[in-house]
Amino acid sequence: MANTSKCLHCLLDFSDSNVSEEIAYKCYGCHGFVHMTCAGLSPEEVECLALKSTFLKYFCNTCNANLELIKKLRGEIDTLKRQIGEQDNCSIFDEVHP
Ligand SMILES: [Zn+2]
Ligand SMILES: [Zn+2]
Repeated sequence: MANTSKCLHCLLDFSDSNVSEEIAYKCYGCHGFVHMTCAGLSPEEVECLALKSTFLKYFCNTCNANLELIKKLRGEIDTLKRQIGEQDNCSIFDEVHP
């Protein structure tokens, strides 16, 4: 796990300091760590998140970008599926009622 002990954002090594979940988030995507401050969260936001920390899923910028890409792709696939489905329905409709 030596290669995951650096903050994904500022690249500072965590191994020298006492890293806990309180000051670092683990990325759900790549399992890398990032400082709370590097994640762009304010102390207030961190406090709110801590209240439901068991459900907290943090994604680093890289993984987040990938997720957005996948989300976008899925949306496009859904649209295509719908278009194909509509075409199929139309052709069936035409056959039954020429
Ligand atoms: Zn950092
Ligand atoms: Zn990540």
